[in-house]
Amino acid sequence: LPAPNADFFGLMDTLSAEQREVAGRVRAFMHAEVAPIMNEYWNRDEFPHQIIPKLRELDLIRRIWREDGSRQPDATVMEGLITLEACKVDVSTAVFFGVHAGLALASVALGGSAAQKAEWLPKMMDLEAIGAFGLTEPEGGSQVSQGMRTTCKRDGNSWILRGQKKWIGNSTFSDFTVIWARDVDGGEVRGFIVRAGTPGYSVEKIEGKTALRIVQNGLITLDDCRVPDADRLQETQGWRTTAEVLRLTRTGVAWQGVGCAAGAYELALAYAQERKQFGKRIGEFQLIQNHLVHMLGNVTAMFTMCLHLSHLTDAGKMHDEHAALAKVFTAAHCRATVALARETFGGNGILLEHGVAKHFADTEAIYSYEGTNEINTLVVGRAITGLSAFV
Ligand code: FAD
Repeated sequence: LPAPNADFFGLMDTLSAEQREVAGRVRAFMHAEVAPIMNEYWNRDEFPHQIIPKLRELDLIRRIWREDGSRQPDATVMEGLITLEACKVDVSTAVFFGVHAGLALASVALGGSAAQKAEWLPKMMDLEAIGAFGLTEPEGGSQVSQGMRTTCKRDGNSWILRGQKKWIGNSTFSDFTVIWARDVDGGEVRGFIVRAGTPGYSVEKIEGKTALRIVQNGLITLDDCRVPDADRLQETQGWRTTAEVLRLTRTGVAWQGVGCAAGAYELALAYAQERKQFGKRIGEFQLIQNHLVHMLGNVTAMFTMCLHLSHLTDAGKMHDEHAALAKVFTAAHCRATVALARETFGGNGILLEHGVAKHFADTEAIYSYEGTNEINTLVVGRAITGLSAFV
């Protein structure tokens, strides 16, 4: 029987030998180091810190960023392939990596001074300093550009930060978190590198998640937290810099959808080739083949879209609405694909040991973060009609 392979159109063959080699190394790492332990850590709602030194050996971040904060020529394609391969096995691992090497690192790279980049980027690339990204607040994520409540106020050579940030990935153990706050004098949005242990900065782990349980999300409280001006991201240009970071990372979240769906499809196909009912392998039933073909069509469309989007991004031709469309499309089709994959497993589909249940749960987080389905839809709607549905 043919081995399950979600790359039906041979899209990997269009990539360079080096890109394929990196993707292959990530695949091997995920199967050797993450797959054997991920269910245990999922159950315990904990992050497996022992994978960090092994991830460091892969030296993946330097395939995306240079130490001066510029991006490699094929950075977005490379980031996409890493995300795809990681998510096929475990979306949480990709999210840990994406928050650190995407959101946090991009904030320093796009908003930091030369001195700040020199201080943080080499350590971040070696995973010796782990970053987090604090934008969303308890009162809401969708409106945060307009309704940000966290404030900063200049006081001599430092700033006083007040407010809360919710859902912040990696923040329970990160060495620093980039905090976005509105200046009470003038209203400009500013970014700050807030180091772990700073007085007035505290993190409470968010318990009871039903998706991405391996990712550690925190509720951050900034209670008159004093940050030196030297740790204000010196080159940010208000909300524009925040939006630029999100534009880059939204493509990565679209790739998470591709990887999550591709992983679920391959699991479902392998199961359908083996599981017997009524004396036949269930893959012999027309209705099950219909599920599989539907899933494969979704994955192929998503993969093709994201690969092209990444080429557009690396060519400097990507606009907000392109990434928003890919995020909307892949998140929705991931959800549909993973539901069919879970269905193909019958009752076993809800058992962690069969793999697909974790994808089924994780797709819900992909659906809602980095701009919900509705918000990204409105971004595309505004671009194509020329009419804004936003208040
Ligand atoms: P809300 O903004 O309250 O939205 C609720 C609902 O209302 C949604 O369906 C939304 O689409 C809809 N809605 C809102 N406005 C409109 C409108 N104008 N028109 C139509 N519908 C609308 N944030 C960080 O800063 N850093 C992180 O590391 C991070 N990690 C995350 C990890 C996980 C697992 C999750 C779940 C979230 C994470 N987030 C993070 C936050 C995430 O980006 C937000 O959850 C997201 O932006 C949505 O915000 P919200 O949850 O407050 O929903």
